[in-house]
Amino acid sequence: MTLIRHHVSDALLMAYSAGQLPEAFSLVLATHLSLCDDCRARLGAFDAVGGTMLGDCRADLAEDSLAACMARIDAQAPERKRPAPRRGLFPQPLQDYIGGDLAAVKWRPLGMGVRQAILPTGRDATARLLYIPAGQAVPDHGHRGTELTLVLQGAFSDATDRFGPGDLEIAGEELEHTPVAEPGADCICLAATDAPLRFNSLIPRLLQPIFRI
Ligand SMILES: [Zn+2]
Repeated sequence: MTLIRHHVSDALLMAYSAGQLPEAFSLVLATHLSLCDDCRARLGAFDAVGGTMLGDCRADLAEDSLAACMARIDAQAPERKRPAPRRGLFPQPLQDYIGGDLAAVKWRPLGMGVRQAILPTGRDATARLLYIPAGQAVPDHGHRGTELTLVLQGAFSDATDRFGPGDLEIAGEELEHTPVAEPGADCICLAATDAPLRFNSLIPRLLQPIFRI
């Protein structure tokens, strides 16, 4: 296991536990959580808080609810889905979205060798896979909302730090950055945004609506 240094914030973990995040953000977090024991343990604490609150709730159901529920459970033999061990590059939550591993990704070129694949999620936020060739920079940009970037392969650096496999960068409106992929392995990331990015140069700005970035 690689050493993960950049984790999910408490605020995001709490929102994830409460089920309040857009699907695209939940996918990024679920993927990080599948790689990170530390964040899974912290999530357990937030889930316990939610469980305690639910324990204090009382709501009356119709009288035959329990019998009806048990009858439906009896009628359907449970289909056990065993968690598959991680075989390829993508952890299980991501594989489920793509329907396979790296070979199943439908990449679209963004220029300069950078490629993306937009994943099918709710439209309140966008999730994409990004493929950045080793040594290549992503055009510098700011953020109108929140951008989550999870490294799956390779590494990138920006003014804030270096992000390697499993690391999650959380960029808010205050951050302007130019991520550069490290030499060596090409960098593959899972990224989610809830608002369009703010590019500083003209060409990326013109292409933005086409690429939904
Ligand atoms: Zn973590």
